[in-house]
Amino acid sequence: PTFADLSLAPSLLSALAEEGYASPTPIQAQSIPLLLEGRDLLGMAQTGTGKTASFALPLLHRLAATPRPAPRNGARVLVLAPTRELVSQIADGFNSFGRYLKPRVTTIFGGVSQVNQVNALKAGVDIIVAAPGRLLDLVEQGLCDLSQLEALVLDEADQMLDMGFAKPIERIVATLPRDRHTVLFSATMPKSIAALAENLLRDPAKVEI
Ligand code: AMP
Repeated sequence: PTFADLSLAPSLLSALAEEGYASPTPIQAQSIPLLLEGRDLLGMAQTGTGKTASFALPLLHRLAATPRPAPRNGARVLVLAPTRELVSQIADGFNSFGRYLKPRVTTIFGGVSQVNQVNALKAGVDIIVAAPGRLLDLVEQGLCDLSQLEALVLDEADQMLDMGFAKPIERIVATLPRDRHTVLFSATMPKSIAALAENLLRDPAKVEI
């Protein structure tokens, strides 16, 4: 298929053409239609397979299809990822694919001052891409309220558990609406990930490449 066959918004198709994305990778071809429908998804895929676009494109499409002001001190979409590098890459993807939709995207991770992160949240954000530790800090300080969240993505979930983020993830998720769209990607599927998926996802579609 082409990206146009996947019924993505024209502004996303223009951005993809400019990025030189000619056709969807297998994980994109499988995931995008399911996520556009609002299905929860459990994906098994490594980095380098095009997994970022497989969730960023449909989530951008859905945000644009249901315009709403960016919640103050919160967000409509939250992506959790294990490292600062991955957080930055994912945010770059949302900004690049969303160049004509102009979502407000902010990154949150530790090792730097929280001031800029807190100021960005105050101004209102559509999409937070975060490492779990610092995000939980902000939530527990009352500086980030995720009660209006529409969609949650856990990327590289196995790596997040290996890094000891099970508890922070659990505490963050406890503050989210139960009625939400949830996506979990992991390179491997040990029992701990199966259990996390069972807890977080509702009737998920499964994709594996
Ligand atoms: P990811 O697995 O999301 O980290 O993507 C791996 C690399 O493949 C990134 O450099 C992407 O820009 C690139 N990429 C992802 N999807 C496509 C596509 N459909 N066509 C061309 N390049 C792609």
